[in-house]
Amino acid sequence: MKLILTCALTPLLLTSVFADGAFYGDPPDATHPWTIHDMNRPQPPVIKGATASTQEKPGQPPSDAIVLFDGTEASLAKWCSDADVNQPTKWVLHDGAFECAPKSGYTRTKEEWGDCQLHIEWSAPAKAEGSSQGRGNSGIFPMGQVEVQVLDNYNNPTYPDGFAASVYGINPPMANPLNPPGQWQVYDIIFRRPLFKDGKEIDPGYLTVFSNGVLVQDHTAIEGGGGHRARSKSHPFPEKGPLKLQDHGNPVRYRNIWFRPLPARAAEGGEIGQLSPEATAAKRKEIAKSIRDKAAKLEGREKMLHLMESLCYESDPATAKAAEEMNVAALAAITKTPAAEMESKKGEVKQLADALNYLINAKAIPAPNATKDALDKIIKEKGWDK
Ligand code: MG
Repeated sequence: MKLILTCALTPLLLTSVFADGAFYGDPPDATHPWTIHDMNRPQPPVIKGATASTQEKPGQPPSDAIVLFDGTEASLAKWCSDADVNQPTKWVLHDGAFECAPKSGYTRTKEEWGDCQLHIEWSAPAKAEGSSQGRGNSGIFPMGQVEVQVLDNYNNPTYPDGFAASVYGINPPMANPLNPPGQWQVYDIIFRRPLFKDGKEIDPGYLTVFSNGVLVQDHTAIEGGGGHRARSKSHPFPEKGPLKLQDHGNPVRYRNIWFRPLPARAAEGGEIGQLSPEATAAKRKEIAKSIRDKAAKLEGREKMLHLMESLCYESDPATAKAAEEMNVAALAAITKTPAAEMESKKGEVKQLADALNYLINAKAIPAPNATKDALDKIIKEKGWDK
C-alpha cells in the first residue's frame, strides 16, 4: 500500500490513506475524466534529456527525438529539394554543418509531421554583408507553412516583424539575444497547427520560440502563416507537412536539427486540456473498466475498495451492487469484533467511512447510506473523530 500524504485542503480532504491515491482529490467531472492527483493517470514516459550545445560542439538530442541532421552525410539523405522531392538536396555538408547553397532553392525534409517541438541551430556567414533583410537571411518553416525568421540581426536593424525569430509578417520577437555572425544561434520552437472543425477555426495554431534560451515568441497565434507584404488569413493546414529551410541567397548554416512530435490537443481527440463531455465519458468508462479488471484479480478489502473506486468514474449497477454487498459484509465483520479488539479496527473503519463519504460527495452512490451511518456511529462512540 502506497502512502499518499495530504498537503492541501479540499472539500473532500480525507484523513485516511488509500492504495494508489484513490478517494483523495476532487472527483472526475463532465470535462475532466481523472480525479485530482489521480494515480490512474499514466506516468510520464522516462527519457534521457537533451544536453546543451556549445559554440564548439552541438549537444545531444533527447533520447525520444527524431534526428533530422546530426552533422553526418547519412543525415543529408533525410532532406530533398523542395522544388522536386525526387531530387536530393542541393545544400551541402560543410564542417559538420548543413549549408544553404545560394540560389539552389529551399530544402525540405522527406518526412512529414504536424505539431512538434523543434530544435535547430543556425549560423550566419561570419563576414557580415548586406543590410536589413539582405544579411544572413534564411528561414525555418514548420510544415512548410509559416516562417520563423533566420536573419543576422546582430547590429542590423530591419522591420521588426521580419526580425530573427519573428513569426515572419506576424509578430516580432520580444528580444534580440543574437550572437555575432559566424557564431551558433539556438532556436527551440513549439509549433501547433491551426485546427478547424466544420469549416470554423477552433484553434488558430501557435508558435512559441526560444532564441538562445530566451523566450521570444510566447504562444503567438499563427494567423494563417504570415508572409511577405500581404496579411494572411487563418486557414486550415494539412495534417502533416515537411520542415522547410529557406534559401534567401545567403550561405546560412544549420546543425543539430531534431524534433519531437507533440501529442494531440483535446480539440482533436487528445488528452491535453479539458476534454469534450463525450470524450470525458468515454475515458471515464475506460478508467472504470481498468479498475474493475484490477478488482477482479483481488480479494477481500482490496477488491471492495477497487470496486468502490471504479464508481467515481462510471456508475455501473452491477459493480455498485457488488460493492454495497461487500460494504455490508465488512460492517458485519467489524460489529462482530470483541470490544477489547476494536481499537485494532480503527484504520479499517475510518477508511471505509471515508471512502463511502467520498462516493456520496461525488454523487457516485446515493445518500443516505446505512453502512456509512453505522460506521460514523462507531467512530463517534470511540472518539476516533477527534
Ligand atoms: Mg527568411
